[in-house]
Amino acid sequence: MRYPREVEGFTIRQAGGKYGTIKGDKGYGIFAKRDHRKGEVLGEVIGRKVHGSDSFLTHRGIQVGKDRFIEPRRFSLFFYLNHSCKPNAYVDSGQLIARRDIRRGEEIVADYSLFTDFSSWDMVCGCRTRSCRKLILPFSKLRKRSKRFVSSYLSNNS
Ligand SMILES: [Zn+2]
Repeated sequence: MRYPREVEGFTIRQAGGKYGTIKGDKGYGIFAKRDHRKGEVLGEVIGRKVHGSDSFLTHRGIQVGKDRFIEPRRFSLFFYLNHSCKPNAYVDSGQLIARRDIRRGEEIVADYSLFTDFSSWDMVCGCRTRSCRKLILPFSKLRKRSKRFVSSYLSNNS
């Protein structure tokens, strides 16, 4: 199938295979079409609420309760959001928010560990940043657990 070139105000293009560690993942990412200010809401999660045991839940699932996740709708903004161990955005209350000023053309990336604590989940990372953790773990398994930029569900319940 042909992928769209744009989603919810962002450009979609291949992110260079940095994150293509998941079978079937085409390595697409979302890129800023304009400059964004720190704290700006970049988008909202659109998707269905699922349980941890639900087969619809993938690595993209965003935790909103003990056993409640939102699985981003296929081809929505969150569907394309890649992980980085050096993120420029974070997720809170179903929103994607800029952690710092973001320049036009930059890929928007968030730290997946900061919005999920699904215990059996992990993912190999190839983000190639200096701070790369190599294996992305659920929040409670992180060695350093700063509460900054963590989704409020996780920071209130861990
Ligand atoms: Zn990494």
